[in-house]
Amino acid sequence: MTKVFDLDMIKAVYDRMPKLVDNARHVLGRPLTLTEKILYSHLSDSLPDRAFERGNSYVDFNPDRVAMQDATAQMALLQFMQAGKPKVAVPSTVHCDHLILAKTGAVEDLKNSKDQNKEVFDFLASVSNKYGIGFWKPGAGIIHQVVLENYAFPGGMMIGTDSHTVNAGGLGMVAIGVGGADAVDVMAGMPWELKFPKLIGVKLTGKLSGWTSAKDVILKVAGILTVKGGTGYILEYFGEGADSISCTGKGTICNMGAEIGATTSLFGYDTKMAEYLRGTSRAEVAMAADAIKPFLTADPEAYTHPEKYFDQVIEINLSELEPHINGPFTPDLATPVSKFASVVKENGWPEKLEVGLIGSCTNSSYEDISRAASVARQASDKNLKAKSEYTVTPGSEMVRYTVERDGFLKIFEDMGGVVLANACGPCIGQWARHNADKQEKNSIMTSFNRNFAKRNDGNPNTHGFVASPEIVTAFAIAGTLNFNPMTDHLTNEQGEKVKLDEPQGVEFPPQGFAVEDAGYQEPAVDGAGVEVKVDPVSNRLQLLEPFKPWDGSDMKGMYLLIKAKGKCTTDHISMAGPWLRYRGHLENISQNLLIGAVNYFGEKTNAVKNQITAQVDTVPDAAKVYRDSGYGSVVVGDENYGEGSSREHAAMEPRFMGVKAVLVKSFARIHETNLKKQGMLALTFANKDDYNKILEDDRIDILGLKHFAPGMPLIVRLNHSNGSVDEFEVHHTYNENQIKWFKAGSALNLIKQLEN
Ligand code: SF4
Repeated sequence: MTKVFDLDMIKAVYDRMPKLVDNARHVLGRPLTLTEKILYSHLSDSLPDRAFERGNSYVDFNPDRVAMQDATAQMALLQFMQAGKPKVAVPSTVHCDHLILAKTGAVEDLKNSKDQNKEVFDFLASVSNKYGIGFWKPGAGIIHQVVLENYAFPGGMMIGTDSHTVNAGGLGMVAIGVGGADAVDVMAGMPWELKFPKLIGVKLTGKLSGWTSAKDVILKVAGILTVKGGTGYILEYFGEGADSISCTGKGTICNMGAEIGATTSLFGYDTKMAEYLRGTSRAEVAMAADAIKPFLTADPEAYTHPEKYFDQVIEINLSELEPHINGPFTPDLATPVSKFASVVKENGWPEKLEVGLIGSCTNSSYEDISRAASVARQASDKNLKAKSEYTVTPGSEMVRYTVERDGFLKIFEDMGGVVLANACGPCIGQWARHNADKQEKNSIMTSFNRNFAKRNDGNPNTHGFVASPEIVTAFAIAGTLNFNPMTDHLTNEQGEKVKLDEPQGVEFPPQGFAVEDAGYQEPAVDGAGVEVKVDPVSNRLQLLEPFKPWDGSDMKGMYLLIKAKGKCTTDHISMAGPWLRYRGHLENISQNLLIGAVNYFGEKTNAVKNQITAQVDTVPDAAKVYRDSGYGSVVVGDENYGEGSSREHAAMEPRFMGVKAVLVKSFARIHETNLKKQGMLALTFANKDDYNKILEDDRIDILGLKHFAPGMPLIVRLNHSNGSVDEFEVHHTYNENQIKWFKAGSALNLIKQLEN
């Protein structure tokens, strides 16, 4: 198998880690958790002289790796091209997994998707080749499974442009999902900022057995913490129960930590991780990790008295844990399997199970597939006919090839299952499910992670339940939610009552993993002569032009574009849904600028007064008119403007459409930083009541820019249409470097200037 990991980088991390951890222990004056060891050994600046304040301090880190999926990589890499760097600063990879539509089966679906997305895949392949980025072709697998199999390493820090990047915590990494702008910074050699997280310790005692699997641990944790309970926290799992869970099982647990909002989750380095590294042809990494083992787990005291070192502690006894089924419509609605049938009845959820779907990045390890297959095999062994449709999504070509060789795919097919491409498919709504458009009320059960309304098939009435692959398989055989595989019998084709035996699985293939073509493209050693492929008439991809630098004078006469009222999230600023098709084409996607924001004047969305034409206009059209007038515009907003995702389009679009400043009562910090990176002014009212002074026909000046300095307020002057004027102070949080971004026109422009 191809060895793609970067051993030198891993060794360099391990070389510096012991000293940095010892120093951090000295600074903090107490034993350390594993999370602290990893965070303190990845600081971008020297160690502080005291502990960071958890939940409050903003800290710069230097991650070791970047991973990007095909949908989010497009804009990230278009931006990276602007930095003028010959190569990425840290090992990075691109994975083609999100754009593949599941319809009939792996071979045909993959072929069709390659045709339909050719321009995007060609762009990603060529840009990766040029800039030293490992490229995983369509069909190679799902980003997180491929990362776990090839790149994740204990004690490392990684960022990825996908929320389930956290999966790599199963191999002891601090791995965090971020927006494309953050990935660009790290690839360009800049530090990456994170609010120092709080810590939840999850102590696992006992041992999993029978129908219960690693998935049930996180389904239980989701039930305890709910979808918001992990926000701002890193979950660190430990205890003898943790040591007994396979490495891929640990990955499953960490993966779904995203469903409780956790920054990430992780486990300490142990025998299971070492076995997995060796089993996936990375004995060198295991050996290097063994050499610094005490640094790759918490200090013993932190686990014997967790209440002293974690902000919150949860304890779960695996020996008592029942399989769980979570949902519908939310992943934290956790029901033990023994109560499930009655809960389904009480709630009137559709009892018939239409489809069981296993696999995805969450649950498609060899162990998962072998356990699910041991249940599926019983369908033919016991003359049962599976009542539900059934699909299998392998997480990687390596797993797919190996489980095919070992006969598992045949077992699923014998049960009536359809094997889909090694890609996200139904997990992200890339599922051409027949009749989904009829919007009928129905139930499906998946071994995926998210189950919000419409997530899988676009039908708001599909009740999506989440469980382990073996539980999904048992329910697919039964065809009903009114079932408990642990206790109930089924009637077979001969009319006999039969019961499903407990699943049996193995962590590793007895003959080892194998693959013919893993789907990896190694980048060129010197990419200078490689041409990046972007069709100039493409409506999905567009090369970026650098934004103009500041012209050195105060900004005067700008038009008010919109005074947004109430909640204005990144989704209101740059809507998702069908617009995602254009995420690599700034001009096209900018046609959704602020179309979800409520206009204070008239309380409608996407209807503003165009001051130049005096007509009601859409926000994007008005913005264009103002931009082309040469004056540009200003967006005014309410509290926590830009909350939600870290989507960089929400900052790039206004910049592209000529918005020069965003003035709000308060910002969501990530969005505020993203605006700064794009070279815009992100300002807050010194006196929030000044929001009320903004009138629909205002022309706006921003004064004091010649003396723009950290901590120094600027002045906003409102020129009202009746000739009167209002002037007030506005605040900002720009530091010296961020002011340079503003002056250069964007952070990337500045990097480029420094590069040349
Ligand atoms: S399989 Fe699902 S959760 Fe995993 S990366 Fe793909 S869309 Fe995200």
